[in-house]
Amino acid sequence: MKKIISLAMAVCLLFAALPFAFAEEAITMDAAWSILVPSSPTSYETFAANKLKTVLSEVFGTDVAIVSDAAEKYIAVGAASAADVSGIAVNGYRIQAIGGNVHINGTGVRGLQEGAYRFLEEFCGRKVYTESITVLPTAESITVPADTDIVYEPFFEYADTDWRSPCDVEYSMANGLTGGTYRRLPAEMGGTVNYLGGFCHTMGGLCETAKYKDSHPEYLALHDGERTIDQPCLTNPEVLEIAKANVLNLLAGGHDPAASVQIVSVTQNDNYNYCECETCKAFEAAHGGVQSATMINFVNQIADAVKEAGYDNVAIDTFAYQYTRQAPTGIVPRDNVIVRLCTIECCFLHALDDPACERNVDLMKDLHDWAAICDRIYVWDYTTNYGNTCIVFPDFDVIQRNIQIFYENHVKGVYEEGNYYIRNCDAEFGELRAYMISKSLQDPYCDMEKEVDGFLAAYYGPGWQQIKTILRMHMENTGEHISIGSGPSQSFQFTDRQVAVIDGLWEKALEAAATDEQKEHIQRSNLSWRFWKSSAKKGEFSILNPMRFEENVQLFEDLQKFGLHQISEGGYDDYLDCICIPYVPAHEWNTYEADESGARARLFFSKLLRRFTPLLSAFGFFYDIFRAVNAEDPIC
Ligand SMILES: [Zn+2]
Ligand SMILES: [Zn+2]
Repeated sequence: MKKIISLAMAVCLLFAALPFAFAEEAITMDAAWSILVPSSPTSYETFAANKLKTVLSEVFGTDVAIVSDAAEKYIAVGAASAADVSGIAVNGYRIQAIGGNVHINGTGVRGLQEGAYRFLEEFCGRKVYTESITVLPTAESITVPADTDIVYEPFFEYADTDWRSPCDVEYSMANGLTGGTYRRLPAEMGGTVNYLGGFCHTMGGLCETAKYKDSHPEYLALHDGERTIDQPCLTNPEVLEIAKANVLNLLAGGHDPAASVQIVSVTQNDNYNYCECETCKAFEAAHGGVQSATMINFVNQIADAVKEAGYDNVAIDTFAYQYTRQAPTGIVPRDNVIVRLCTIECCFLHALDDPACERNVDLMKDLHDWAAICDRIYVWDYTTNYGNTCIVFPDFDVIQRNIQIFYENHVKGVYEEGNYYIRNCDAEFGELRAYMISKSLQDPYCDMEKEVDGFLAAYYGPGWQQIKTILRMHMENTGEHISIGSGPSQSFQFTDRQVAVIDGLWEKALEAAATDEQKEHIQRSNLSWRFWKSSAKKGEFSILNPMRFEENVQLFEDLQKFGLHQISEGGYDDYLDCICIPYVPAHEWNTYEADESGARARLFFSKLLRRFTPLLSAFGFFYDIFRAVNAEDPIC
């Protein structure tokens, strides 16, 4: 019997092995391989070859050569390769195994270089998680399947975000960030898609509203019956000529003919004081009754002038923002006009296309309406809490989906605005979010769970799964909707028991940390948790704890220690002189300045209360019971 089973197993194994016997053998690459370049390589080819050489030399622990002639065992780059890229969109690439060798080729100004980075990520496991954390396993050899044929075309012509690491050139290159506002990639790396002049809110400057305030008040917007320099009158033909001249001047001084696209922003100032003169009102009434009508009409004429002047690679950018968010009727943006739709009013807990989230339904309608008349929509999206930046912004479940939605609705460029002041306010999960954003922009359909797991392990160390659980618990205990200014109690509602569980998870993650760097990352992100607890008077900040005043002071001091000069978008340093630090929740530290009578009164009564606190809390007895009841292993 035993023999028959063995024989049957042998037959099974034979059949299982058969397909491999006939398939081409996988490529095994080791230090004997070289990088093959054309005899006169371009700067793109030289850059790609050098990158491959440097990283592969590190992987194999010995020098990998760059050659211009090789019969076998080579990675051919650019024109030396046989990978056909003729049908691939601009800035795309192809990585192909042909005849036992590897061929990498690309299109446009950065396709080839990105192809080299993709090869290193895909086959060497190289991951650039932050500006200082690059994971690169060493090996004697790496394996490239014989049927490898990776074709990539960029999902967006412009991909940008701020945060911390995305400002780093190497990080941006590895993770596909191409916008030039927060980084400038050198020409051999393909450069960046740059805005010439201002990035946003440029209208006042281009129309010189302040200059003409007295001499030509009719150039200014008539709002609420008064002329204001806040916006120009967009139907005044002389204003148009001023703006045109300024845009053409900008281009005369800074046009880059080699760029794949260069953008000039003609965008409304950051206020609602649009023109209500009779001409503007009449034009808008005839085009859907929306303010975007005069804006598109104005910008179209500038775009025409730019085209007539021969600037074929230049696009004029305008906003669909606040009062211009709705698309007009009967007027269509020119091909060289970019409409940047802004999601500032949205909910970032629910996906933008979630029909159950009433805050997002209108935005989706506007996106569809613009997509019907404009083939070049960019999106300005938001990814942090500007009012309470230290508190976790629970958008982790929608980052990738929203970027998919943009792509599926013909959006060509995305700027994910986040905590651009992170160097003064880094207490949350900024690096994780930045990585999720970058990877989603590079490929909206990437395996995000795998990316997140890899990031968490590299950044937080062996206790990363505790951090993952903490994040999941945050996502499951939010308020109903989340805006970019939600308060602490609108953001999360944790029970006392959940607070104790999350406290325990943070402790375990910290205990497991293997390096000082991982510890620092955990303690830094943990500040956001402590900040929320202080704001919500939970855990050690509970009113039952007679030591809660000291806890607030400790949190305040730790924020200083970790370099936090800001706790919200506005006011560098302005929470540092709060006179009520021990007595008020952390999110109120931006108020209670020394010279205000309200602050002094609060301080007086708080000090009084503190005197009686030991008595009121029965010298901590109630807090001990509270902790015991809510502990991870409660006594009852
Ligand atoms: Zn007007
Ligand atoms: Zn919502």
